[in-house]
Amino acid sequence: MKIIIKGKYCSHCGESDCKHSKPNEEAKLEFFPVYQERTCSIKEFNQKFGKIEGLWESKGTEHKEIECDNNGCYCDNGKHCRRRMEDKKYWCIDFKSLSQLQEFFNEVGFCKIYKEDQDGYGLTIDLD
Ligand SMILES: [Zn+2]
Ligand SMILES: [Zn+2]
Repeated sequence: MKIIIKGKYCSHCGESDCKHSKPNEEAKLEFFPVYQERTCSIKEFNQKFGKIEGLWESKGTEHKEIECDNNGCYCDNGKHCRRRMEDKKYWCIDFKSLSQLQEFFNEVGFCKIYKEDQDGYGLTIDLD
C-alpha cells in the first residue's frame, strides 16, 4: 500500500520533491498519476470554460465522464468529467502491512491524513 508522505517545502529549490525535502528516512520518490475532475459533463465544460481553458480533450489523456456519487455535490446532471494529467513525483512509503503503518504512526506521533479529491490519488500523510 503506497501512501504519499507530504514532502517538506524546500526554500532552496522551492520544491517539495527535491532531495532536501525528504520527509522521512524511509520515504522514496515515485511518480504518481494525477487526475483532474470537474463537476460537469464534458459538453458542459466545453460550453462554459472551453473558450478560456481550452476544450476538455485538448489537455491530458483518458478523458471520460463518471457518475457522481456524492449527495452533497452541486453538479447539475450527476456527471463529472475526468482526465489524466502528467504524472508527478511524490515522496511515498510502500507499507507492506497494517502493523508497519501502525509502527510508523507510533514513531511520528502527530500527523494529518487526507485524500486529495481534486487529484484523485490515494492517501496523503502530512507530517507537519
Ligand atoms: Zn531542495
Ligand atoms: Zn457531482
